[in-house]
Amino acid sequence: MGIHLPQAIEIGKYLVTQRLKGRKRFPLILMLEPLFRCNLACTGCGKIQHPPEILKQNLSPEECFQAVEECGAPVVSIPGGEPLLHPQIDEIVRGLIARKKFVYLCSNGLLLEKSLHKFEPSPYLTFTVHLDGMREKHDECVDRKGVFDTAIKAIQAAKAQGFRVAINTTVFDGTKPEEMQEFFDFVTSLGIDGMTISPGYNYEWAPDQDHFLKREQTKALFREILAPFKAGSKKWDFNNSPLFLDFLTGEKDYECTPWGSPSYSVLGWQKPCYLLNEGHYKTFQELLDKTDWSEYGQKSGNPKCSDCMVHCGYEPTAAIDAMQPANIGRSMKALWGG
Ligand code: SF4
Ligand code: SF4
Repeated sequence: MGIHLPQAIEIGKYLVTQRLKGRKRFPLILMLEPLFRCNLACTGCGKIQHPPEILKQNLSPEECFQAVEECGAPVVSIPGGEPLLHPQIDEIVRGLIARKKFVYLCSNGLLLEKSLHKFEPSPYLTFTVHLDGMREKHDECVDRKGVFDTAIKAIQAAKAQGFRVAINTTVFDGTKPEEMQEFFDFVTSLGIDGMTISPGYNYEWAPDQDHFLKREQTKALFREILAPFKAGSKKWDFNNSPLFLDFLTGEKDYECTPWGSPSYSVLGWQKPCYLLNEGHYKTFQELLDKTDWSEYGQKSGNPKCSDCMVHCGYEPTAAIDAMQPANIGRSMKALWGG
C-alpha cells in the first residue's frame, strides 16, 4: 500500500490540530532541497539551471533540522538535485526520522543501490525513484540510455533489503495513455509502495518548453490514463489523494494551496512555491507573512499559475478537502485499497 495507516493518522491529527488552532495557512509537506546538483540533465528540469556557485553548495544537517523545526510540516520530501550526492544525506535522514518526520527521499536511482548501506529500513523513510515511463520513454526523458535499467535494479535491491520504495512520475504532453498504463502495471508488479503522479510544469528556465501540458489537455490525458483505475479494472496504488486524482481528471475544481508545500534550499525559503522562483526569505514566518498569496493560483489571473495542476500546489488542497465529513469515507477506502 502507498501511504500507510500510521502516516495517514499522523497527518489527520496534524490537520485537525491546525484547524483547532485556527491557523489559516499551514504547511503539510516541506520540500527540503539540500542541494541542486544532479548527475543527470533531464530536459524538463528547472533545478539544475542554477549557476555553478549555487550548484556546488550543500545545506548542512543543522540547517536542514532548523528548517524542519521552524516549518513544522509532518512530511518532508527531499527532492534535489540528486540528494544522494549530498555527503551527509544519511545524517540528514537519520535526524529527520528521529524527529518523527515522514521522509520521502527522491532519487533518480543511479546511486541508490550503492547508497543503501547508509540507511536503515523504517516506516518513516520511503525512497521515491523518479521514473517517467518504460525504458525507452524514461531514458529519453532523462536524456541518457541505461538509466531506467539501473533504477529498476536499485528498486529491486531496496525492496529486497526491506525498504519502502515508491515512484514519482511526471506526465508530459505527447504521453500515450496506453504506454503509461503499461508502465503502471509494470511498476506495480515490482511490489512498490505507491506511485505519485503529476503533470509537468513549464519552468521558465527549463530548456524544453514544448512538452508541458496545458490545463484542458492535462484533464483529457489523465481521464484517458486513469480510466481503467477509475472503472476498478486496475488496482494501481497511488500515493496521491483520490481527490487529487479527481482534480487531474477534471471531476473536481480546486484552487492552489502554495503555502501547503513550502520549499527550503541553499537559497532560503522560496517565494511563493516549489515551482516559481520569485525570491527567497530567511525565515518560514516571513514567507507566510510577507508573500501576497492573492497573487497566486488560477483565480488570481497570474499567467504563471493559469495552467499549473502540479501536485505540490494541489495535493495540500486535496488533503485539506479530504478532512471534510463528506470525503472521509472515500479517503479511508482509498487507504485500504478500495
Ligand atoms: S534527475 Fe531530477 S533533479 Fe536531476 S536533472 Fe532530472 S529532474 Fe532534475
Ligand atoms: S498554481 Fe502552481 S505555480 Fe502557481 S503558486 Fe500554485 S503551485 Fe505555484
